[in-house]
Amino acid sequence: MIKNLSPSRASQFKTCPKQFKFANVDKLKEPTNEVQAKGTTVHQALEDLFDLPKEDRNIEKLHNLFREAWTKVRGTDEHHNLFSSVEEEREWGVDGLKLLNNYITIEDPTSFDPLERERWVRGSIEDLNLRGILDRMDRNEKGELIIVDYKSGKAPMAKYKEPRFFALKLYALLIKEELGEMPAELKLIYLKNSTIHTLKIKEEDLIESKKEILEIWENIKKAYENDDFPAIKNTLCDWCYYKPICPVFNDNPPDTEELRMINESISDLEEEIEVLDMFKNENEVPKESPIGSKDKEQIKNQISKLEDQKNNIQAEIEELLRK
Ligand code: SF4
Repeated sequence: MIKNLSPSRASQFKTCPKQFKFANVDKLKEPTNEVQAKGTTVHQALEDLFDLPKEDRNIEKLHNLFREAWTKVRGTDEHHNLFSSVEEEREWGVDGLKLLNNYITIEDPTSFDPLERERWVRGSIEDLNLRGILDRMDRNEKGELIIVDYKSGKAPMAKYKEPRFFALKLYALLIKEELGEMPAELKLIYLKNSTIHTLKIKEEDLIESKKEILEIWENIKKAYENDDFPAIKNTLCDWCYYKPICPVFNDNPPDTEELRMINESISDLEEEIEVLDMFKNENEVPKESPIGSKDKEQIKNQISKLEDQKNNIQAEIEELLRK
């Protein structure tokens, strides 16, 4: 069972519980793709922009920050070998720079200093641990708190804008709990089509979001309890990484049950290690407790055997996912 929920995981479950299961229960991780890499690099450049003095926050500097950010990001494991040729990488880079050009047309970064950037927010609502990273928090001229998120994609039509604020409402809820101050407005900055959507919020909106996230959390717990994560066909299926193994689109999808069981056993064993770590000396563990007779090395060996089994199954499934 997952211990924390982020707004994006919650939305994933809401859209398709099966997709949530593939990613979080079976732990078939989607490799980073170029769209995500672009988002990460653009976010980094925009974060770094506000480290510069106001007079230096111009498009040339922003482009340089994008290049610097990519030099760092491309060296990480998950971004290695993302492109098959230099031309492909260059084209990708030009697209990233275009997003930053679009940013400068909709916001003047020399006119303000953000209050915070890339802030971790976490908190508990009843038995739910919620957490995530907030891109930016500002104060407007009236001194009110504004919560800001950058999106590298396209803005929806204004009449469909509201559901896109779900994650920001949850961040607002956590910020209010943490700082004791009610944010006044949420802002989504869509870079692809240079659009800003804003939403004024009140206490009632946050109460609604709280109800909604708790309802999703209840459904997640039920799904884990009954091992029932239905596949829900939706408009995003064509972009779903798991489509090649999804039962909706395949007569004989691979069985991922064993993966689920192995992951559960690994997380139980990891918890046993955490318990053992609470004692300075393993001899202090009460012998009558369920782990009283175990030692850490034994448990680590068990985990490593299970990891091997898991890797073999994952490798087979990942071959299907790459097709
Ligand atoms: S392809 Fe569609 S139905 Fe299948 S797991 Fe992905 S989102 Fe769900």
